[in-house]
Amino acid sequence: RVKERGRAGFRFYQPQMNVDLLSRMKIDQAMRQALARGGFRLHYQPQVDIRTGAIVGAEALVRWHDEELGELSPARFIQVAEESGFIVPLGEWVLTEAVRQAAQWHRRGLDLVVAVNVSAVQFQRSNFVERVAAIIAAAGLPARNLELELTESILIQDADEALLRLNALAALGVRLAIDDFGTGYSSLGYLKRFPLRKLKIDRSFIQGLPADESDAGIVRSIVYLARALRLSLIAEGVETEAQRQFLLQAGCDEFQGFLFSPAVESAAFDALLEREALPAGAADDLALPG
Ligand code: C2E
Ligand code: MG
Ligand code: MG
Ligand code: MG
Repeated sequence: RVKERGRAGFRFYQPQMNVDLLSRMKIDQAMRQALARGGFRLHYQPQVDIRTGAIVGAEALVRWHDEELGELSPARFIQVAEESGFIVPLGEWVLTEAVRQAAQWHRRGLDLVVAVNVSAVQFQRSNFVERVAAIIAAAGLPARNLELELTESILIQDADEALLRLNALAALGVRLAIDDFGTGYSSLGYLKRFPLRKLKIDRSFIQGLPADESDAGIVRSIVYLARALRLSLIAEGVETEAQRQFLLQAGCDEFQGFLFSPAVESAAFDALLEREALPAGAADDLALPG
């Protein structure tokens, strides 16, 4: 009986796959048109110093609203773009736009680090380092104001080649962070070998804080590891004050999450910068022109 159901299930599976293939082709087609027409936007999520509450950076997150398909989640369309190769031109647009915004903030006297997600497909293109160098040079952005968020998969696919590229990026002065840390398959050896600055603790380990003892233990271990390797640490997906308190006491440096703000368009980000809660006395140090 079970087998029969399994076989019947298999028959239903085929057309389902075709539907999925069709919608993937449709999404891919619509993305190409959207890029040509300027249909993508970037939102920025504040990265906050966990002790002072000051905004120290922003993660650029791509947004796409299609007239026919509606608002699509990046988790979905990025995957389609990675499969089709469209992530290369899309990723180049994201990088260019984020660097343009970062340069604008820099010219206004704001020392923010703008973090950009880099897909493995994009990173593996032979001219990736040259493109990064050209884009920051064209915008006049100091390299230290750009951070690239890489996934663990980038580091394990071709570790020798990855090391060469990461060293070249670090030599430019670009900051390198590992995104969704703790969810990948890589060994800890690469943390020592690669010129990394920062680890981003994955949201899945933050969700259960402070009550879940496994999550608490994992987070404390990551803090310990980051200290030993002199890496800076940020927690993503922080939604509650209790989570922030735990992270503060554990020794995490920064946080990002709905507790402070979701990703917002650049005008709203500017508003956050203006009314950010500064610790006593720190307002004197804030150099805002005009
Ligand atoms: P990510 O890089 O790990 O980004 C964090 C995701 O968590 C974002 O989802 C963000 O909106 C969401 N988030 C932030 N704070 C909270 C919180 O407190 N609670 C919850 N529940 N979620 C929170 P988003 O914008 O939907 O992006 C999803 C993923 O898509 C990103 O995960 C990243 O892997 C990918 N992505 C987004 N933009 C780009 C891009 O420009 N290039 C590439 N290659 N990937 C991108
Ligand atoms: Mg990210
Ligand atoms: Mg992340
Ligand atoms: Mg994530």
